[in-house]
Amino acid sequence: EKFKDGLTKTRDNFSGKVNDLVARYRKVDEDFFEELEEILIGADVGFETVMELIDELKMEVKRRNIQDPREVQAVISEKLVDIYEGAGEEKSSLNIQSEGPTVILFVGVNGVGKTTTIGKLAHKFKEEGKNVLLAAGDTFRAGAIDQLEVWGDRVGVGVIKQAEGSDPAAVMYDAIRAAKSRNVDVLLCDTAGRLQNKVNLMKELEKVKRVIEREIPGAPHEVLLVLDATTGQNALIQAKTFKEATNVSGIVLTKLDGTAKGGIVLAIRNELNIPVKFVGLGEKLDDLQEFDAEKYVYGLFA
Ligand code: GDP
Repeated sequence: EKFKDGLTKTRDNFSGKVNDLVARYRKVDEDFFEELEEILIGADVGFETVMELIDELKMEVKRRNIQDPREVQAVISEKLVDIYEGAGEEKSSLNIQSEGPTVILFVGVNGVGKTTTIGKLAHKFKEEGKNVLLAAGDTFRAGAIDQLEVWGDRVGVGVIKQAEGSDPAAVMYDAIRAAKSRNVDVLLCDTAGRLQNKVNLMKELEKVKRVIEREIPGAPHEVLLVLDATTGQNALIQAKTFKEATNVSGIVLTKLDGTAKGGIVLAIRNELNIPVKFVGLGEKLDDLQEFDAEKYVYGLFA
């Protein structure tokens, strides 16, 4: 239901157009596929992914000898799920350690919804009975530390911080020490979101990761890149940059409720080979859903 509601805009845009297309054509021909291609590109599915999808569809239509455009609709759903799942084996679930603390690092540019996502996940873990701690690793942006504290208060979890402008690696060091002594299960770490200088970004993330790894071998257990679905192809460009700067283990795609172009999920998965682990479907605490390709595609047409 959450998926369905969160995808209202994309559904109205995408499936509305597909329904209209299917109703207008009497047989499945080249023109039909060309129009479908345009609809998919318009939904931000991404050029490469659209080409792959159209090829697959053409083959399937030929194989099953489908003549009626109405029958193509089901095949589109099938192929969308196939494309998502065929891109890799990784699960959308997080790599949570049975013996804590599990360390999750959040990366992404300012404004994408990083702090909100940390708050939502902290809430989710707390509901599961886990002991959660936050680390205010964005010491660069004015107000970032306060903003994280607001979320900490709202959810009822502690925040480890230092003064603005301090070394993020030192904050992480403190946070890990605190996590160990307080028997924390999950430590959620914010980081600075500047992207203007890739070398600096890379250096800062490397230093932060080195400190974490030194204190807890094998950590960070997840590096989640937060992307804003409403920025469309820009999100894809950001993802490529971050992927070059650090090992990203998963993506959180926020504001899927705010775009009519939810096809970006498929582009990200297929073109970057990084699993989408969560999607943000609203501003409230429980508006974060573990991503599920079938539910997503169902939500597009339901
Ligand atoms: P940060 O700078 O990356 O930490 O971004 P914030 O967490 O401050 O979020 C920026 C804005 O996006 C805020 O107004 C959030 O309420 C909003 N936001 C975050 N996630 C979502 C989402 O999934 N859906 C919607 N509609 N808004 C979101």
